[in-house]
Amino acid sequence: MITIITLGTNLGAKKRDDGRAFDELRPLKIEAGVLERADGSAYLEFGGNKVLVAVYGPRESHIRRFQRPDRAYIKCRYNMAPFSVDDRKRPGPDRRSIEISKITAEALQPAIILEKFPRSVIDIYIEVLEAEGGTRCAGITAASVALADAGVPMKDMVVACAAGKVNDEVVLDLSEAEDKDGQADVPVAILPRSGEITLLQSDGNLTPDEFEKALDLAVKGCMEISDIQKEALKNRYGE
Ligand code: UDP
Repeated sequence: MITIITLGTNLGAKKRDDGRAFDELRPLKIEAGVLERADGSAYLEFGGNKVLVAVYGPRESHIRRFQRPDRAYIKCRYNMAPFSVDDRKRPGPDRRSIEISKITAEALQPAIILEKFPRSVIDIYIEVLEAEGGTRCAGITAASVALADAGVPMKDMVVACAAGKVNDEVVLDLSEAEDKDGQADVPVAILPRSGEITLLQSDGNLTPDEFEKALDLAVKGCMEISDIQKEALKNRYGE
């Protein structure tokens, strides 16, 4: 009998370090309405990420800088708790959190019917309690549920998920270890109904083919996450 052993030719079937298939998300749990004081809130666990989001508003802004005559202004603060990572993070904003706050507001904005609330502000506070790779996507996904919980009128939810390249293979939803050792990370946010992309970043090197594959995979991941978002709102408000 001849046994043929092929090594590394069927990369799509290879398991990852944490046992996931190339197109498999980490376990995801979302709960809407977890805070009493905020107008809307959500708590999300995604693999080793734990993220809490609070939303206030829309409410009249008394600060000139945030007043728009024709629409509401979205203010977003993404914050990583000092205890959210292995090496204690220095408290307070840094370049990374300022960037993530900005791209998160921009990813959510197209879904919100801003024209309904001139001169108003909507505050979104994203607190990363534990981080394990992919916190910007986790924050956007949870913020969208918190906005819906606050009753903010939206055209659609916003869902975010990353894909990337690890060990020369395009995979869905990179863990922290994969992000650190990997070759590329592509976070994507979409409005699932229209397919409109509201966030697309790319860190690392990908061929055009790999980029296409990563984008497709991330969009598929978003569609799965979208069902869990809907479930979270159903659990809170019924059908
Ligand atoms: N991270 C960390 N310390 C930091 C920033 C990030 O340990 O100060 C970890 C954290 O687990 C994060 C991951 O590195 O999720 C990847 O960070 P990145 O900047 O790529 O953003 P993310 O993937 O969280 O959106």
